Amino acid sequence: MSQKNNNIKQVAIIGAGPAGLQAATVLSQNQVQVLLIDKQAKTGGHLEKWSHLFPDSRPSNEILKVLQQGIQKENIQFFKNKRVSKISKSNGQWELGTDDGLVINSDAVVIATGFNTFDAHQKEEYGYGIYPAVVTSENLESIFKGETTWPFNSSGKDLRFGIVHCVGSRDAKCGNLYCSKVCCVTAVKQAIELKKKFPGATVYCFYMDMRMFGTGYEELYQEAQTKYNIQFIRGRLSEASPSQDNRLQVKAEDTLLGRPAKLTLDMLVLMVGMIPAVSLEMKNDAVYLNQPAYGSSFITPDDVFLKMNHHQQAGLFITGACKGPASIPEVLQDAKATSIEVLNYFNNKIK
Ligand SMILES: Cc1cc2nc3c(=O)[nH]c(=O)nc-3n(C[C@H](O)[C@H](O)[C@H](O)COP(=O)(O)OP(=O)(O)OC[C@H]3O[C@@H](n4cnc5c(N)ncnc54)[C@H](O)[C@@H]3O)c2cc1C
Ligand code: SF4
Repeated sequence: MSQKNNNIKQVAIIGAGPAGLQAATVLSQNQVQVLLIDKQAKTGGHLEKWSHLFPDSRPSNEILKVLQQGIQKENIQFFKNKRVSKISKSNGQWELGTDDGLVINSDAVVIATGFNTFDAHQKEEYGYGIYPAVVTSENLESIFKGETTWPFNSSGKDLRFGIVHCVGSRDAKCGNLYCSKVCCVTAVKQAIELKKKFPGATVYCFYMDMRMFGTGYEELYQEAQTKYNIQFIRGRLSEASPSQDNRLQVKAEDTLLGRPAKLTLDMLVLMVGMIPAVSLEMKNDAVYLNQPAYGSSFITPDDVFLKMNHHQQAGLFITGACKGPASIPEVLQDAKATSIEVLNYFNNKIK
């Protein structure tokens, strides 16, 4: 049980990814006692897994370092390896319960639980888990970081890479109709990284639509075509299978040219979509943080215009990618907005 000083407000933040770290920093700067909780041993969430970031190829550890320095304060306590599974409220006080029986009390709660990546095994036609040369965008970041090895032996001269967009997104069969928003620009970022690493290689991107929504993204897409000669093919990949020379064979339809395409590749990268990390369930006045069921949706804010950072219950806030696919700059801004709302709540400016 955490100790409470009645003069100081306490906030519990569930999730120490970019959103949770940013909210912890801002709230601690405003004399709030922060209890930051993560189911992992380290802070950083998904940012910790990425090599370089779109849109400007910055090493991710540069941003991570700044966010981690932000929480080096006396009024922030980090609880690691603690998965929060239950939140309840009584007499204006929140109580959080973790899987291993820890109880944490606070005056307000911020949910910053982020996302998981779509399980690519569900798209059996691409052979993920069967052919080692089929990897996800998340796996490729780990290869770029040198934590995993390349799934081929070639020195790179004639290598051929395929990148498939919309894996587990915009797909009724997977129950996910939404666009995961950041995977088109992630595909462009990773295609450029591949060309930087293997300048003689050919990189194909198979897309449905190119959705380059953010500042600098369209320019990056242009650069991918003009400077790096990345081949963008509008069309869906139907299947991947082994080729006679132990590589991968993929079948696709080029929907712009209206003709089928058959290619031999050394590696296929699946742009897996974002799915929520938790779903919320109300039961006996408590909120349960469950593993989301197949096809379940992100956490819904109280009002998508006016209360984007609020859950329906007063004193319970939501921030970052737990509300839907978002980039790191977006979740950092969102976390700052959420922090202002928490301070307003403590100052009785909002209910
Ligand atoms: C392949 C890929 C590449 C990307 N590359 C970029 C990029 O280059 N640039 C960019 O701007 N964006 C990129 N993004 C998006 C970026 O990863 C997200 O915007 C960002 O991670 C969201 O931050 P978050 O804090 O909301 O969530 P997360 O990063 O998911 O962090 C959530 C944290 O909550 C914790 N948590 C979850 N549930 C619980 C629980 N019940 N109890 C306790 N802790 C819990 C998790 O362990 C995690 O640490 C990429 C996304 C993908 C999929
Ligand atoms: S961002 Fe691009 S790849 Fe991702 S779901 Fe949307 S259209 Fe598909």
